[in-house]
Amino acid sequence: MTEKLDYDVVVVGSGAGGLLAAVRAHDLGLRTILIEKSDRFGGTSSVSGGAIWIPNNDDFKSGEDSPEQALEYLIACTEGAVPKEKLERFVEVSPEIPRYLKKLGVEYYAHPVMSYPDYYPWNPGSQPRGRTLFVKPMDGAVLGDEFFRVRESYPEFKMFGNITMDLDEGAQIGGKFPGWIKATLKILARYYGDIGWRRKTHRDRKLALGNALTGGLRKAMLDRGVPLLLKTRLTKFVRDDSGAVTGIIADRDGVELHITATKGVIMASGGYEQSPELRNRYFEQQTEARWSATPRDNNTGDALLAALDIGADVAFMNEAWWAPTVAMPSTHAPNTVRNIALFFERGYPHIMAVNRLGKRFTNEICSYHQFGQAMLRDNEATGANMPCWLIFDADFRQNYPLGGLLPAWVAPDKKLPQDWFDNFLYKAESIDALASKIGVPRETLVEQVSRFNRFAENGIDEDFGKGDNVYNKFFGDPRHPSNNKVLGAVAKGPFYAVRCDLGDIGSKGGPKTDENANVLDKTGKPIPGFYAIGNASGSVMGRSYPGAGATLGAAMTFGYVAATRMAQVNSFK
Ligand code: FAD
Repeated sequence: MTEKLDYDVVVVGSGAGGLLAAVRAHDLGLRTILIEKSDRFGGTSSVSGGAIWIPNNDDFKSGEDSPEQALEYLIACTEGAVPKEKLERFVEVSPEIPRYLKKLGVEYYAHPVMSYPDYYPWNPGSQPRGRTLFVKPMDGAVLGDEFFRVRESYPEFKMFGNITMDLDEGAQIGGKFPGWIKATLKILARYYGDIGWRRKTHRDRKLALGNALTGGLRKAMLDRGVPLLLKTRLTKFVRDDSGAVTGIIADRDGVELHITATKGVIMASGGYEQSPELRNRYFEQQTEARWSATPRDNNTGDALLAALDIGADVAFMNEAWWAPTVAMPSTHAPNTVRNIALFFERGYPHIMAVNRLGKRFTNEICSYHQFGQAMLRDNEATGANMPCWLIFDADFRQNYPLGGLLPAWVAPDKKLPQDWFDNFLYKAESIDALASKIGVPRETLVEQVSRFNRFAENGIDEDFGKGDNVYNKFFGDPRHPSNNKVLGAVAKGPFYAVRCDLGDIGSKGGPKTDENANVLDKTGKPIPGFYAIGNASGSVMGRSYPGAGATLGAAMTFGYVAATRMAQVNSFK
């Protein structure tokens, strides 16, 4: 069975990039449709923190940042791998994104405390306060029935796995900062007091983080009547005789859908990190899809294969937004394990990372992307990383979370499922015994831990400079009695180990695009009507990860750019 539809613009994929592009295209007068492969909208963007990296944004004090500084920083980060015009376009357009989002009802703000420094503080043009903006929570009830089609945030971002905590609440309660008990009671009262809604569903109607971003963008689509087809998977791009992309073919639950697009198609279908086959084809070292922290099975690169079929050139195919992850058994779904990204845990005191030879290999609290790159480098050199091990002591276990493992003051060992021990969480009375349990050389691990502890005593990490730079200093525990708040001895038993995989939060290779997000063919010429953005495209950030929110910031910026460009160029018919 075949069905035919006719639009000006088809957007493929409902992550933040695709959602914003669809709204923007509609606002510019283009008849737009969005298709989404899964039964939920929002993609990885929905389960994300929703933070965006926007240089020279309106919310930071004027004079703190400038387009020139931002460009200087990006040029240094991308090391010549990204054309300057593309970086310039990002710097020029990205400040418009929070303004546009605000008009759509999605509000971003600069957090007074959570001001993530840029990830390469040593690069010229970096900002010690960073350039990251955070999204305000929204009331999901305004989405009506669409509320149930938002891809839900991961349980580790919520209280008891299903009660929403916004950024402030999460930080306050997680860190046991003054007022945390009151904040907890307030959240519980809000959730359980919402009786009418509770009768309807256990899902919290307060949407925060990535859910507030994709929920807010979906609301803007609903307000405008922009159609979204779920369970509709792009299988082919259609070209006319001149080579322009003039539509797509998609599979909608067995029905073949032909959609013409007079202005063209925006490929916003995320990366290919969920495809074992494409990972093996493009990544330099053996990795596994299940190590990724992105939702299972959606971003499998089917649009990428379709783009290759029509002669698109590609860039950065061996790259991802790397992040260490831990495979954690789910307390919510039996027999299920999911890899959870470790964004900040490595920055608490009393934890260190070693490879399977028992040796430290990096500053634990470099950015998650740099940590992943360090794993790759070390694995290349030793063959004994991927997985590596996180080793921590009773002080860490008592006070700090790790992935979805709550600190012992909330979830003591005796309350944890017993099958977690010596499976997900290894525990021993001495470092020596722990080394035996996890199969790393005992003498080396004992030597490395005592060396690390000596550094902790002096507050100086002589091997990797943990705690030295402004990015490192953003982390740590202010109550840790040392001048180096991220460096604490692994000295108090019992001792613990958790296996750490080379995970990712999305791949970042795809069709090569110009500064208009227009896909290039192998001769370097733009393919008319064909645009790619976000993780579906060769990243504007090259091999780097400049700061917190750089992936969503770039996806939405080039979604905006692509839609704007499509409204400017003539139709192909
Ligand atoms: P996605 O959001 O992945 O959306 C792609 C969509 O396309 C999916 O819904 C998919 O189903 C659909 N699709 C795929 N193939 C097809 C097809 N053939 N046809 C139709 N549809 C298709 N980044 C930040 O910048 N800030 C953060 O705070 C942040 N926090 C994160 C936290 C976590 C836990 C994780 C996992 C990631 C985080 N990231 C963050 C990374 C960020 O979420 C992703 O890089 C970003 O969402 C990518 O956006 P996108 O629009 O390119 O793709």
